[in-house]
Amino acid sequence: MSVNTLRAGHKSVLEKIFPDEVLTSPEELVVYSSDASLKRGTPLAVVRPDRVDQVQALLCWANDEIMPVYIRGSGTNLVGDCVPVRPGIVVSTLKMNRILEISGTDFVAVVEPGVNTAEFQAACEARGLYYPPDPATVKAATIGGNVVTCAGGMRALKYGVTRDFVLGVEVVLPGGDVVMFGGRNHKNVVGLDVARLIVGSEGTLGFVSKIWLKLLPKPEASASLLAGFASCEHALKAVDAIFQAGILPCALEYIGDKIIDIMTCAGEVPWPEGVRSVLLVRLDGSREALRHESERIEKAMPNIVWSVSGSGAEEEPLWEVRRRINPTVFTLGPDKIVDDVTVPRGRILEAIIEFEKIAAGHQTTFLNFGHVGDGNIHVNLMYDASDPDQAVRAEKTRQEINKAVIALGGTQSGEHGVGISKDITLQIPLRELEIMRGIKKMFDPKGIMNPGKGY
Ligand SMILES: Cc1cc2nc3c(=O)[nH]c(=O)nc-3n(C[C@H](O)[C@H](O)[C@H](O)COP(=O)(O)OP(=O)(O)OC[C@H]3O[C@@H](n4cnc5c(N)ncnc54)[C@H](O)[C@@H]3O)c2cc1C
Repeated sequence: MSVNTLRAGHKSVLEKIFPDEVLTSPEELVVYSSDASLKRGTPLAVVRPDRVDQVQALLCWANDEIMPVYIRGSGTNLVGDCVPVRPGIVVSTLKMNRILEISGTDFVAVVEPGVNTAEFQAACEARGLYYPPDPATVKAATIGGNVVTCAGGMRALKYGVTRDFVLGVEVVLPGGDVVMFGGRNHKNVVGLDVARLIVGSEGTLGFVSKIWLKLLPKPEASASLLAGFASCEHALKAVDAIFQAGILPCALEYIGDKIIDIMTCAGEVPWPEGVRSVLLVRLDGSREALRHESERIEKAMPNIVWSVSGSGAEEEPLWEVRRRINPTVFTLGPDKIVDDVTVPRGRILEAIIEFEKIAAGHQTTFLNFGHVGDGNIHVNLMYDASDPDQAVRAEKTRQEINKAVIALGGTQSGEHGVGISKDITLQIPLRELEIMRGIKKMFDPKGIMNPGKGY
C-alpha cells in the first residue's frame, strides 16, 4: 500500500539526503503540482538532487516505503506526465545540468538530464557540431525530458526524433541500483537495445541520470520557403511532389485554412487573399547544394499561387508566422485541447476531412497545422472550459478524432506521449499491453515510478 501523507519520519530522511532543501510549504508545492497539461496533483515534497548518489538514496528509501516518485524536468509536457496524481515526491532534475563532454572526434556528447536543450544545441554549434532534435520548447525544456518523452520537432523529417540520437543512458532504478545501457558507440548490437526502451518511457521506469548523445557535423547553411495554395488538397499534392522530386527537406510544416483566417483577422500576414493553405519548407546542407535544391523545390510544386523565400537571417520572419499560431488561436476560445495525432503520410487528407466532419457534428472549433512531412497533425480544439456544454462537446470531438486516427492506421500521439491525457487501451491490444506492463514490473516491481501514467 502506498502512502498518503508525509510523516515526520519521511521528512527527516529526505532532509538527511537533501540537507540544503526539501520543499514542503503549500506555496512551493503548488508550483510543482502541474505541468503544461494544466492538470493538477498533490506533491508531498519536492527535492532537487545535484548528484547521482542523492538520487540513489532517494529511490532506495522510496522503494522501501512504496512512496510514489514523480520526476520533473521543465514541466513542458502537454499530457500530465509530471502531475503527481497520487501523493508523492517530485524530483526536479534542474540542478543536474552539467554538459560533461562534447567530443568533435567521437561525435558524442555526454550530459546530465537537467541540461537545457537550447543551451546544449548552442554549445554544440559553437564547436561546429549539430544536435538536430528541436521541439518547439527547446528554450525551456531539458534534454532529460526530451529523452524520456522522445521529443520530436520540425527537423524530425530529415534527422529523426530524440530516440535516433540517444546512444546510451545511465539509469537509477527504484531500490537505488545504477545501470547503464548503450554508450558512446554510434553502432552497437550487443544485447537488447534497452536504451531505446528508456526513451519515451515517460518517467515510469527509472531516473535517467546521464545521457550519451550522437552529434552530426553542423550543416553549412539553410534556406526556407513559405508557399501558399488555394486549398488543402493542393498543398498536400505539393508535399507529394517534393518527395517525388527526390528532395528531403529538413522541415515541412502545414498550416490549414481556419488558422489562416484567424491569423489574417489578427493582423498582418504575408500571403495575399485567396491563399487557403500554406506550406513552410526548410532545406539545409552545403550552400551550393541549397542553391540547386531551392530552385528545384519551387519548380516541383504544382498549383503554387504565391511564395516568398530567404536564407540565413531572412528565414526568421517566415518562421515567425509559424510561431505566431499558438498565441493567435486563443482569439477563438480561452481553452484548448491539443493533440498530436499521426497518420500514415498518404492518409493525411483523408484524416483532415474526417476530423472536419467530426468537429462539425459536435459544432466544435477545430484547427489543424503540423509536421505534415511525417504525418503528424496538431489538432487544436478551441473552447471555453467554463461552459459545461462546450467542454463536453470538445472532449467528445477529441475522443472521436482519436478513434478515427486509429481506424486510419495512425497513432494518438507522434510526439507528446500518453501521460494521463490519452486512453492507451484504445490503441494498444491487451497482449501487447501485458508485455509493456511486464517490462515495467522488471524495472519497478512496486510501481513507485510515475504511478497512474501511460500503460
Ligand atoms: C507550446 C508547446 C510546444 C511543444 N512542442 C513540442 C514539439 O514540437 N515536439 C515535442 O516533441 N514536444 C513538444 N512539446 C512537449 C514538451 O515540450 C516535450 O515533451 C519535452 O520533451 C518535455 O521536456 P521537459 O524538460 O519539460 O520534461 P517534463 O515535462 O518535465 O517531463 C516529461 C517526462 O519526462 C520525465 N522525465 C524528465 N526527466 C527525467 C529523467 N531525468 N529521468 C526520468 N524521467 C524523466 C518526467 O517524469 C515526465 O514523465 C511542446 C510543449 C508545449 C507546451
